[in-house]
Amino acid sequence: MADLICATDDSGAAEIFASLQGEGPSAGVPVAFIRLSRCNLACTWCDTAYTWRFEGDNRPHRDGVAYDRKANQIALSPEKAAAKIAALGQKRLVITGGEPLMQCGPLADMLAILPDIEVEIETNGTTKASSHVDIRVDQYNVSPKLAHSGNDAALALIPERLDFYACDPRAFFKFVVASPQDVDEVLALQREYRFRPGHVFLMAEGTDSATLRARQQWLSPLCLEHGFRMSDRMHIHLYGDTRGT
Ligand code: SF4
Repeated sequence: MADLICATDDSGAAEIFASLQGEGPSAGVPVAFIRLSRCNLACTWCDTAYTWRFEGDNRPHRDGVAYDRKANQIALSPEKAAAKIAALGQKRLVITGGEPLMQCGPLADMLAILPDIEVEIETNGTTKASSHVDIRVDQYNVSPKLAHSGNDAALALIPERLDFYACDPRAFFKFVVASPQDVDEVLALQREYRFRPGHVFLMAEGTDSATLRARQQWLSPLCLEHGFRMSDRMHIHLYGDTRGT
């Protein structure tokens, strides 16, 4: 059985914790989180660059930090991960990253040990779950990355994958926007993929409360105009941009 490669918290342990979901359709729900390491994209504003921007990786990031891989990744068996999650006593599990669907094998093994827990997966929408993982998923939070993320659209917006998630009633889309022009790109994607009404969230990019509040001032009327839901980032207001929260 392969290990899960997890991100680490400030103590160096696997980043597994209980908190309120801060974003998207389940915002405010008490959940257990597990954050997996590694990502196939490289967003310039990624707030979890410690999951992928290791020393030697020169893909651009606004902070310019190169993380020590040994200090920021930890291998954990599916059994140990499941035991840590079960000990948190939550009904629902959010599997996040990084890009967690890069580790479907050990994820399926972990979920097999947690047969009753509800499962929410946060993905960038470029890959899909194996059947053993997919059958356990109650909700996908799909966050396709727009041009301002700095990713090549050929890597970040894969038509077959977007089609797949657009057809799945378990999938909600959450677009990170940094300027009003980004909403035009979301509207073009909506026209192309016909996302379900009520399944599209726009969320301001920001890792501090002042930035989020300022951007929400222009974002909220755009949501109202186009029928999108607006997502806050509640954990940023509560805890700041910190690990394990
Ligand atoms: Fe970070 Fe998510 Fe972008 Fe990956 S897809 S670089 S985890 S924001």
